[in-house]
This record gives sequence, structure tokens and C-alpha cells, in this order.
Amino acid sequence: MRPTLYIVIPCYNEEKVLPITAPMFLEKLSSLSEDGKISDNSRIMFVNDGSRDSTWDIICSLAKEDKHYCGVCLSRNRGHQNALLAGLMEAKDKCDITISIDCDGQDDINAMDKMVDKYLAGAEIVYGVRNSRKTDTFFKRTTAQGFYKLLEIMGVETVYNHADYRLISAKVLEHFADFKEVNIFLRGMLPLVGFKSTSVYYERHERIAGESHYPLKKMLSLAFDGITSLSVKPIRIITTFGFFVALLSFIGIVWSVIVAITGKSVAGWASLTCILCLLGGIQLISIGIIGEYVGKIYLETKARPRFIISQRTDTETDGK
Ligand code: UDP
Ligand code: MG
Repeated sequence: MRPTLYIVIPCYNEEKVLPITAPMFLEKLSSLSEDGKISDNSRIMFVNDGSRDSTWDIICSLAKEDKHYCGVCLSRNRGHQNALLAGLMEAKDKCDITISIDCDGQDDINAMDKMVDKYLAGAEIVYGVRNSRKTDTFFKRTTAQGFYKLLEIMGVETVYNHADYRLISAKVLEHFADFKEVNIFLRGMLPLVGFKSTSVYYERHERIAGESHYPLKKMLSLAFDGITSLSVKPIRIITTFGFFVALLSFIGIVWSVIVAITGKSVAGWASLTCILCLLGGIQLISIGIIGEYVGKIYLETKARPRFIISQRTDTETDGK
């Protein structure tokens, strides 16, 4: 039997780009269906992440125009990762496979054919990997690659140059639903679910219209969240560093005692000040990093809902 595919697309203030890319997604869905790869019950599901512009109105009129479009609306802006999770959780009971993709046309939709082929050949997760970043600006390319390197060094298992363009089977999503954490970083969490996975490669294009929602500040906070949600390596680094500093301090103590005994001690104001400043700085950074983990525990214990769906195009009713 042909699998039912849901293409899950988070949208935040995308009124400029949505009318251009929505028909492209529909065309792709039709061609996959005509090729006999997916069933005709497949859908394109938009997740409106609390947009302030007319994005939701566009989604509603698309849903009226063609039954292959549908959408859910979050009660407020929760960020890309939460919006995507909301879409995946909404889709998982209605389909056999999902493909998540941004709505700005940057990711090559033709890679979907290869993704579905890999699923039909037995893979449960298919990661879309960018094989070049020629169209990105030098700044975006360098910061993005630094981002993946940093994650790797800090012990987060991710697929290099893979963002959130991927195929996930409903079976994997069923198990992924048991990951109840509120600090989510999907591309680092999915490898933890396991199952057979593979990659397909594609060229990344420029944004068709509108502007990126990921400036450097947001990228840094995503990297920081990803690291502290998935790895305790920063705390281990602090511990190792602490031992190193303790060893140096011990040598310093021995040295100062010897100097004092041999009567060669002088007023060591400069060295004392330097050491105090250095240790003060290190301690503050360390407390900051540990504080980040404590903050995460605080948020996790609250276990607030990760998203609230306020409307759906198929029912137009309120509620979760
Ligand atoms: N997005 C979202 N909520 C947000 C920010 C972004 O749902 O708070 C969506 C956005 O509409 C797009 C995707 O996430 O479909 C990726 O965002 P963007 O293209 O701005 O990021 P970039 O590709 O520049 O990293
Ligand atoms: Mg983009």
C-alpha cells in the first residue's frame, strides 16, 4: 500500500513567500502521487506560529481552495522548533510519513522524491543534508558551519549540515512523542530515538521572498540551547578545568611557602590581583554555565505545554 505523506511546514510572518511556495509544494505532492509513491490522502500541513501578518488567512484560503492543504494555528509565537513539533505531533496519527521543510523555498523540494524512495527502501528517518552553501552569504556560511562544529565539540550528536528538512516515519514519531522535555532541539534529539536512518544531499537555495528569522543572536541561542539540552560536556569541561586550576594553585602555594621561608618574599600586589581577577572570572563563567542547567531543570519541572493549538483549518474549532 502507498504511504500517506504529510509535509509539515512551520510559518512565521511568511505572507510574502507563502503564496509563491504553497503551489510548489502542491505540485510536488501531486507528482509524488502520480508517480505512485504516495497515496492521494497525503497533505500539506502548515503550522502558523503566531504570525502577526496575514499568514493564517492565507493558509485558511489555501485550505478552502484545495483539499490537499490543511493547517493548524498556534495560540502564540513559540519559535520554529516548537511549531515544527506541534505539526509533527498533529500529523503523526494521520499519516505514515512526514517531511518537515521550511516554507521559504530554500530547501530543494525535489529531494523529497529521494527521501520517499529511501523510506520505501526501509529507512525510518531520512536527513536532508546541504552539500554546498554557495548561495549563503559568507557570514551565514561561516556562522552556520561554526554552529555545527561547536555542537560536535560539545558532545551533541547531530548530522553535519542538516537542519530541519527531513523525513520521519509515523512509527518513529510515535516513540518520539515519549520525549516529554520542553527544551527541544529536534535535530539533536531525533538521533536518540534510533531506528534505521540515512541521508540525501541537496543544494540550498536563496530565500524566495521575505527575511530570515535567524540572525546571529538567535543562532547563538539555538546552539546554546541545543548544547545545554543535550549534553553535560560543558559541566565536565568546567570540572576538568577546575582540577587544572587547583593543581596550579597547589604549585603556587608550595612556591610562595618556599619564597616566604627563604626570606625572599616581596609585596606581591600585582600577582595577587591577577590571580584574584582570573579566578573571579572563571568562577563567574562556571556559575553561569551551571546556572543554565539549573534554569533548564526549572523549566522542565514546570512541564508546561510545549505548544497550544488554537485553530485548525479542517474543523475551525478552538481547543487543543
Ligand atoms: N519560523 C517559525 N517560527 C519562528 C521563526 C521561524 O515557525 O519563530 C519558521 C519560518 O517561517 C521558516 C522556518 O521557520 O519556515 C525557518 O526560518 P528562516 O527561514 O527565517 O530561517 P533560516 O532559513 O534563515 O535559518
Ligand atoms: Mg530559511
